[in-house]
Amino acid sequence: SDLLRNSDLAMYHAKRAGKNAFKFFDASLNQGAHMRLRLESALRHALDCGELSLHFQPQLDTRTGEIRGMEALLRWHNAELGEISPTVFIPVAEETGLILPIGEWVIRTACRQLRIWQADGSPIQRVAVNVSACQFKNKDFVHQVERILAESDLDPPCLELELTESVLMGQAEESIDTLQQLKALGVLLAIDDFGTGYSSLSYLKRFPIDRLKIDKSFIHNIENDRNNAAIAQAVIAMADTMSLSVTAEGVETQEQLHFLSANCCDEVQGFLFSKPVPVEEVPSTILRLTENG
Ligand code: C2E
Ligand code: CA
Ligand code: CA
Repeated sequence: SDLLRNSDLAMYHAKRAGKNAFKFFDASLNQGAHMRLRLESALRHALDCGELSLHFQPQLDTRTGEIRGMEALLRWHNAELGEISPTVFIPVAEETGLILPIGEWVIRTACRQLRIWQADGSPIQRVAVNVSACQFKNKDFVHQVERILAESDLDPPCLELELTESVLMGQAEESIDTLQQLKALGVLLAIDDFGTGYSSLSYLKRFPIDRLKIDKSFIHNIENDRNNAAIAQAVIAMADTMSLSVTAEGVETQEQLHFLSANCCDEVQGFLFSKPVPVEEVPSTILRLTENG
């Protein structure tokens, strides 16, 4: 039975590596599986135990430096496991379906928070949330967004949904339908990690989207890497002809900012301005960014 279990585990890994492959079992696979089980069972309680929180990262107008929006990024702190990166636990949440209640909580919490900032007279105009494939494909998703907007009394254009191109292109015809329903609510729609996946330009034209976010892998070393520079310029030019806004993520240096500004990228986001911060640090972050002009 050990042999069967171990070969099963190896098969599972081979499948995850893109099928049509083989994989030998070794003890590290067992450890990985054990760790995943621990993560999974801890994640089942994370929401109810109040272990999840949102951090916020400013999105600024490239030209004026004014803060336009805040991207909400999920954080998980567990007493035993410590701080766990979303790149580790979001895939687990997706595979287990836990992303549905967690994702709903993210949208609701982000909308409520923006309402609080607005009541305090903050300059933040919108909040952006990441939406995973399972959420987007869920039949109830559009109604869920509608309900949350109503209950938080938030103007729909104050909420921006970030979707990756692989989520949208996976079932492009169905996506158009869902995007149109979301657009009808009045929310803003952005394509996240743009350029890392596979986009059909003819579909892109039919998606009722508002913004492209250039992935940080293309912003990296943009001042020296001619390929990255060309890709960023092409995305900005394409967005311009399609009347879409463009945001560059992962902006870390003045040189990158200068390049993006010279090439008329609308908005910028990255460590150069601020890392994602917990909600209590948002006011001081805004103050610092406003004072620096
Ligand atoms: P993403 O949506 O592409 O988010 C950008 C990631 O880049 C964030 O990592 C952010 O902290 C990081 N980042 C921001 N500025 C810089 C920079 O200047 N340099 C570098 N090197 N990195 C920067 P984070 O917070 O670890 O999130 C990772 C990913 O997890 C996100 O990538 C997103 O795909 C996913 N994620 C986070 N929160 C949620 C959520 O609420 N729902 C879903 N479905 N996914 C989420
Ligand atoms: Ca994002
Ligand atoms: Ca990204």
